[in-house]
Amino acid sequence: MEKQIISSLLNWYLNNQRDLPWRKLQKNKRLNPYYIFVSEYMLQQTSVPTVKKRFEEFIGKWPTLKNLSKISEAQILKFWSGLGYYSRARNLLKAAKIINKEFNNKIPNSYNTLINLPGIGEYTAKAIMGIGYNKPVMPLDANIERIIARLYAYEKPIIKIKKQLNQKATKFISKKNSSDLIQSFMDYGSMICTPRNPSCISCNISKYCLAFQKKIQNKIPKKIMKQKKKPKKYTRAYVLLNENNEILVRTRSPKGMLASMLEVPNDLWVEKKSLLQNDEVVKILNSNFDIKGSIIYPFSHFNLHAEVYYKQIKKNKFPKTKWLNISKYSNSQLPTVMKKIVEVAL
Ligand code: SF4
Repeated sequence: MEKQIISSLLNWYLNNQRDLPWRKLQKNKRLNPYYIFVSEYMLQQTSVPTVKKRFEEFIGKWPTLKNLSKISEAQILKFWSGLGYYSRARNLLKAAKIINKEFNNKIPNSYNTLINLPGIGEYTAKAIMGIGYNKPVMPLDANIERIIARLYAYEKPIIKIKKQLNQKATKFISKKNSSDLIQSFMDYGSMICTPRNPSCISCNISKYCLAFQKKIQNKIPKKIMKQKKKPKKYTRAYVLLNENNEILVRTRSPKGMLASMLEVPNDLWVEKKSLLQNDEVVKILNSNFDIKGSIIYPFSHFNLHAEVYYKQIKKNKFPKTKWLNISKYSNSQLPTVMKKIVEVAL
């Protein structure tokens, strides 16, 4: 089955390949490894249509690796404006300078050398070797992973089936036509076996596709449900310690969160920091507190962000309130969030 898929994709690629500037052939009718090298850095975080235009500008300015290796970081960063993820530009230039110095301006073609260059990981190393030098490898980008996941009807999220995908990918390594085969997979994934609504009706390999047979192609790759971001609430909490090593506590309102439980004084919990209003203890003391830190405490429906303040005071400032000896707070009835606040303050 894999052999038939390979030959179908290679045939399809002959007539349908995308016209991409980094695929321009050299006089020797081969791809230019420098073009593949530059394009792979650019494509790391940017879509093909955006890279297409910027790649041509880049090659217009620095047509060879030697040209590129002579420029300054400021020059490449200036060019990179609008592409984002500037570390790619820095790494690309660092790698170019290494290749200029150590490899006589020839882009390396071995995995072990490529992987040690700045900004090159497993995928990029294999892409340069396979596409640029026709070496027998199969780099797994999102397009290729999706096609393989569908062919074998892997119903788990991609992140959980990396091992299986890598194993299956070895079946699609071509000794003779590696470059074309890798690119045919990539183009097929971007034009036919697309992330949404793949064109299975016009697909040349549908008879080998398990997902198509099971009619589950639209469910593959399975998405990992992103956890909804929890809303935030804000407060400021005040840990007041008296001369007897006791902290001031009080009972919360009988309604709402942590109803009737003990607490250290804190501002009403609000959805925006700007809405915070000083608790009455702050008004009574009318002086500065030390800030001791902050906590983020997860409740089921929101995260409470609390800044923790501390002050030593005389017990007679608050004669009618409850006090809790600090040696007892960890076993007290203070709810966990309040215990965490006390921990930060003490
Ligand atoms: S049949 Fe559909 S899901 Fe399967 S490889 Fe072809 S386009 Fe992709």
